[in-house]
Amino acid sequence: MVSRIVGMFKRHRMDDDCLEVRERSSDLIDGDIDEPSERRIKGHIGRCGPCNTFINTLRATVNLLRSTPRQEPSDGFRARVLKSIREDQKS
Ligand SMILES: [Zn+2]
Repeated sequence: MVSRIVGMFKRHRMDDDCLEVRERSSDLIDGDIDEPSERRIKGHIGRCGPCNTFINTLRATVNLLRSTPRQEPSDGFRARVLKSIREDQKS
């Protein structure tokens, strides 16, 4: 779920450190990260405005999604989405 959100932010231009923040952001938020990486990434976030905003937005979004009760879509909705994805892949 987190990686889907991360994908939305990947379009911006950035340097290697920024890229690492984007790539490891879900691990960082899940606490699934080794200590040297965590220290390096947090250091970068401290001095890079876009990455700071990125992490804060991602964290807030994840928290929001986790606190929202899960709701199953109706069958009609699911079918429409799947159909539109299939049509998208053809073009
Ligand atoms: Zn950055």
